[in-house]
Amino acid sequence: MKRKDFLKTGLTAGAGLTLPIFTSQKPIPVIRKARNIIFFSYDGFTWEDFSSAQHFSHRNFGKSLHLEKLFHRGAAGSMQSHSLTSMVTDSAAATTTWATGRKIVNGSLSIYPDGEELTTILELAKAEGKATGIVSNTTITHATPAGWIAKHLNRRDEENIAEQYAAFKADVMIGGGVEAFDPNLRSDRKDLFKPFKDSGYSVVTDLEDFRTVQPDKLLAALSEDHVPYEIDRRFRAVPAPTHREMAEKGLAILDGAENGFVLHIESGRIDHANHRTDAGASLWEVIAADETLGMLMEYVDKTPETVLIMASDHGTGGASVYGVGERYRSSSEIHDLLNKRTASFPWIMRELGRNPSEAFIKEILTETTGVHVSESNVRILQQAIAGDNRMPDEAAFPRQPIATLGYVLKGGTNDLPTHLNINYGTTQHTAGAVPAAIYGNGVDAKPFGLIDNTDFFYWMTEAMDIDYQNPEMSPEKAASFYE
Ligand code: ZN
Ligand code: MG
Ligand code: ZN
Repeated sequence: MKRKDFLKTGLTAGAGLTLPIFTSQKPIPVIRKARNIIFFSYDGFTWEDFSSAQHFSHRNFGKSLHLEKLFHRGAAGSMQSHSLTSMVTDSAAATTTWATGRKIVNGSLSIYPDGEELTTILELAKAEGKATGIVSNTTITHATPAGWIAKHLNRRDEENIAEQYAAFKADVMIGGGVEAFDPNLRSDRKDLFKPFKDSGYSVVTDLEDFRTVQPDKLLAALSEDHVPYEIDRRFRAVPAPTHREMAEKGLAILDGAENGFVLHIESGRIDHANHRTDAGASLWEVIAADETLGMLMEYVDKTPETVLIMASDHGTGGASVYGVGERYRSSSEIHDLLNKRTASFPWIMRELGRNPSEAFIKEILTETTGVHVSESNVRILQQAIAGDNRMPDEAAFPRQPIATLGYVLKGGTNDLPTHLNINYGTTQHTAGAVPAAIYGNGVDAKPFGLIDNTDFFYWMTEAMDIDYQNPEMSPEKAASFYE
């Protein structure tokens, strides 16, 4: 579309669907061709989340994040994330941009609303004889990994997505989400483990089996739903694999594949924690992802012709770390209160149950967050758990009653020194440009500025010498299917 037409539709279309934002298709900053591509996605991760984890790591562990090293040594920049018909993307439309080079409507996976399917980077890689894999700590059939394989108008149909996985047969699938495969948990009672077993896959659902198995092809579903939060694994002894061991296993299987491989690894629960205004759970997800990242950078350093891409898909929650005290001098010290968070909000809510007493609420919150909550805020939380009087504004914070927990932990004020200086703006996704980087294989350590989420598809295909463009659809046409 020409610029003149943009302006015209911008003025006449009341819904304002067109997004007069540049789409870049920037030249790839890779010098040489790549045999192997590892794409590491951080779901719902903002620059603010990065700064929070960065300072926490320096002050509490005395070391830099691998992510900082990635941004310094690799080419780094920001990625704009809008989808075809909204300035705020969901994870399905976002992952589709990476996998296909096209923007689509939120909620769908690699498909236009008229049913036209897009070809994904994993399909293209497989056609070139490359091995393929997906790893995530969400259900393995969740939107971010799914968009690289499945085509569906509704990302929530994870049972059908499992069937599409059985047809595609990536060499590696590691994540949570037994429920989409197990005949005892699927609504149609189909056994979706069987087609994988019949094709020579090791199929594991047990953590000990996962740790010992050495397969050529692997389907590992290591929890009924999503893999438990790192903060609960670490401080509450909730049984779960680490993110790093899941990624390491996937990489070990694909390493040495005759024609190379494409592996998509997701840290998917940063997004979940941020949806719940849960700064502690979010922080520990970032730290767990960072341990994976360090391992991946080492792998790239010793494995020629391998490129590592890191990208967030969008922001979630809009958390901001704010300045505290005279000349903001207390900011870092107050931020260290994150150290007192030793359980996720869902863990706390489960522990509280349906009808907790005031004393019990105080006890649990002191133990898991270090915050001494006032009588009036304890009552607000009780009322929220009972299903009424939810705080704050439900338009911005529809995830309830859990967002009320975040609210009462803030005290509704900025009382010092017991309250963390992190404010969430919403429980929804946000529009801002997010971190991205590319590393390895002779990549220049130059910033690439602002790129579009669709650019990565072209960078990946170019690096692998694949010449392919998916069909396009205009935002107006896409929107017309939902009028
Ligand atoms: Zn997402
Ligand atoms: Mg995701
Ligand atoms: Zn989300």
